[in-house]
Amino acid sequence: MPILQLSQSLINKIAAGEVIERPASVLKELMENAVDACAKRIDVAVQRGGSELIRVVDDGCGIPADELQLAVASHATSKLSEADDLFRVGTLGFRGEALASIASVSRTVLRSRTPESDSGAELAVTGGVATEAVPCGCPVGTSVEVHNLFFNTPVRRKFLRTVQTEFGHTSEAFTRIALGVPHVQFTLRHNDRLVFDLPGCDGMFERIERLFGRELAEGLIHVESTDAQVRLSGYVADPMHSRANNRMQYVFLNGRYIRDRSLQHALSEAYRGLLTSGRYPIAFLTLDMPPETVDVNVHPTKLEVRFQDSGRLYSQLLSTLRSKFLATDLTVRVRPVDSGEPVGSYNSSRETELRQEVVDWAKEKVASWDTAAGPESAAQDAFSIGRASADRQPLEITRLDRAMAPPAGDMQTPARALQIHNRYLVTETEEGVTIIDQHALHERILYEQLRERVCSGEIETQNLLVPEPVDLAADEAAAALENRDLLAELGMKIEPFGGNTVLIAGFPAMLANLSPAEVLRELLDKLISGKREPDRGDLLDELLHTIACRAAVKAGDRLAPEEIDALLQQRRLVASSHHCPHGRPSELIFTREELDKRFKRV
Ligand code: ADP
Ligand code: MG
Repeated sequence: MPILQLSQSLINKIAAGEVIERPASVLKELMENAVDACAKRIDVAVQRGGSELIRVVDDGCGIPADELQLAVASHATSKLSEADDLFRVGTLGFRGEALASIASVSRTVLRSRTPESDSGAELAVTGGVATEAVPCGCPVGTSVEVHNLFFNTPVRRKFLRTVQTEFGHTSEAFTRIALGVPHVQFTLRHNDRLVFDLPGCDGMFERIERLFGRELAEGLIHVESTDAQVRLSGYVADPMHSRANNRMQYVFLNGRYIRDRSLQHALSEAYRGLLTSGRYPIAFLTLDMPPETVDVNVHPTKLEVRFQDSGRLYSQLLSTLRSKFLATDLTVRVRPVDSGEPVGSYNSSRETELRQEVVDWAKEKVASWDTAAGPESAAQDAFSIGRASADRQPLEITRLDRAMAPPAGDMQTPARALQIHNRYLVTETEEGVTIIDQHALHERILYEQLRERVCSGEIETQNLLVPEPVDLAADEAAAALENRDLLAELGMKIEPFGGNTVLIAGFPAMLANLSPAEVLRELLDKLISGKREPDRGDLLDELLHTIACRAAVKAGDRLAPEEIDALLQQRRLVASSHHCPHGRPSELIFTREELDKRFKRV
């Protein structure tokens, strides 16, 4: 094949492939343009998750009629004029390819008017082919409508997920921009339903509260510091609020939402010992620094950036948080979990106690940082959180057993077991010696029992007298509503409650001693992080694993003798108890022959 110069329309489609992955990416680009145009108010409307329509209307500086064609041409921008500008970018956009890319894979209508002009102009582009701009009546500012995204790239269109999922992403894109510029007023409508109405405000706090709810906002700690070049400010959550993933870590660099591994790591370091393992801190941070000290042109959607001195930034964030935690009495922020009476049975006293223990422990650790040992050694003790709580009330292993246990006559006397390190059980068997991992075995047992019940439709749901509202991130809320049926099969009843809040109306009775909100969040995390279009069966299985893992006794939990008996008893009832559902072995068997061989008796 000869080498051919690609046509402009093909070039645009290729560029679109890089920048425009789904409706949410379109929304991001359009909202960024509106912010760059110094809009004070931005109204967003989407239909069917954004795949049918995305409309962004702003009251910004507008585009002159004779520049409308250029705005949708590729590599045309008003934001850079010379090469050096690239190294001191002060706007969100600068590549001049977003509108061209979007217009090449949709039917786009652009209307705009500048303050100097008495009328506006309208331009329509279908699959990259533009009409002449015609005059139209419109207010000062710009409105961009993107209809039928990917109508001419069926492969891309096929990759779109359900309306709820796409809306989840769209809403997250909205959230990221809205958090970055709190002084701008925003609204978001989905299928004509008003999802967010955010008045312009002075700082980020009010915006966080509007977007994520009061409960989270009340648990925020203000942080601030200034280095020679960098001003860091924002909010981090009290350790009693955390997540099973790092998606609630919002970092804004000069108003731009970014993801940065090194800063995420600094956050985790700062919370080391304050959160149990597998939990991630929540943070909303803004970094202001001279544009020339950071390269934003390293990633097509500018999600990642390159700092000139990332090591220094890392230390600044870490030390700012550490000194703030030292100065903060973290306990006073902990509200009694079981104050809300009727729901109280779920927020069991065990959980409250555990939390209190963790908080006390953390407080002690933080206090010890100013003494000689220093933060490093405190951090090394992080794992002792689990073990420090070994004297808690015994777990209700038997709760599940009774239903499952065979009639008394069939019962074999349970084998006695030695307990080792609150982690392994060693028992003598006919074959030899079996070493059991208590967590893995219990997880397996619970998993099997749950599965059996789900399959036979026997999961018992306990309806909550007062449904529990849970504030979620946009994508979590979308996942919750989209998978309502699936969650109902597991005994978890979810109702929409407006915005990103859902109600838990019923909870699996067998999980009574766990917090419904926590379990829901973890399940949603599993639903969201699954990359491919999941098979219903796989999904259910995955959720069962999650519940089993969450409900099982942990390594480090000290079990009462009855609990050990119960565990060993149930072990016989579970067909494949040799592996925990994650595939780790739950027990190791040393046969007598093996032992004899090792001790050189044979
Ligand atoms: P970039 O934002 O990288 O410059 P875009 O393709 O997103 O590239 O936009 C091209 C140009 O169109 C911008 O540089 C700007 O001049 C103009 N433009 C786009 N959207 C708006 C808007 N909402 N208000 C004013 N001007 C806009
Ligand atoms: Mg742009």
